[in-house]
Amino acid sequence: MAGILFIISAPSGSGKSTLVNQLRSLVSGLEFSVSWTTRGPRGSEVDSREYHFTTREHFEKMIRNGEFLEYAEVFGNYYGTARSTLGEAFAAGKDLLLDIDVQGAAQVRRKMPSAISIFLMPPSPEVLAYRLRNRSRAEGSVQEEIIRKRLAKAREEIENYRDYGYILVNDILDRAVEEMAAVVAAERFRRDGVPAENSGDAERLMEIAESCRQANSEARIQPVLRAFGVPEPSLQS
Ligand code: ADP
Ligand code: 5GP
Repeated sequence: MAGILFIISAPSGSGKSTLVNQLRSLVSGLEFSVSWTTRGPRGSEVDSREYHFTTREHFEKMIRNGEFLEYAEVFGNYYGTARSTLGEAFAAGKDLLLDIDVQGAAQVRRKMPSAISIFLMPPSPEVLAYRLRNRSRAEGSVQEEIIRKRLAKAREEIENYRDYGYILVNDILDRAVEEMAAVVAAERFRRDGVPAENSGDAERLMEIAESCRQANSEARIQPVLRAFGVPEPSLQS
């Protein structure tokens, strides 16, 4: 049974870590990839739990050694997924979730076209700014320059939403968590078949997942695209 590779991308501050943390307690058999990064730990982050924190020198050596499945420079720091993470998860019979940016997601899709990709959007720039400020305040300092950069970058990242199979809007957290769990379940049903004993539940989960497919979520994401000033499909040449 082949492991499923899930990719989730979202602008910084959208609530991706919050959502992924909740997913951990809901979904079994899903490994959460711990990336390598050259940025320093933030808030209560612990080495090898949130990230493998390392130096630029060491990261560049790993690049030269071909140790990364993908890597990218985001906000002036390197971030990357080690190939070994993928091998270990699949060897253990687990599915794997990568929380990576849009550049890394494009690299993985090229190498592994069967990967299932999910884009998480914040409901609006105002809500995103509010969440970024709140998080910075909780971590001890609000740096307006960093918040401004992340907001500008968010628009650019949202422009890539069409490359993703599923789109979630993180407005109400519980709903986004339910949708993400439904996507994981639906993709597993597609691989394994639906167990007869819970076919009713499976049908409900598959319906939720289906409603999050990019092709079925235009109405829901239109207001978000408009608020961020991202061109909508019907308005493009
Ligand atoms: P990311 O991992 O995408 O950078 P975080 O998970 O750190 O974002 O979330 C950014 C901030 O927004 C945190 O303070 C978090 O508690 C808050 N947050 C996340 N999701 C929601 C939500 N649905 N409603 C309100 N606040 C949220
Ligand atoms: P943060 O510093 O807020 O934790 O993450 C900043 C950005 O880097 C987020 O968009 C996050 O998804 C992305 N990121 C985290 N790990 C990786 C990785 O291994 N590869 C890539 N390409 N991006 C990553």
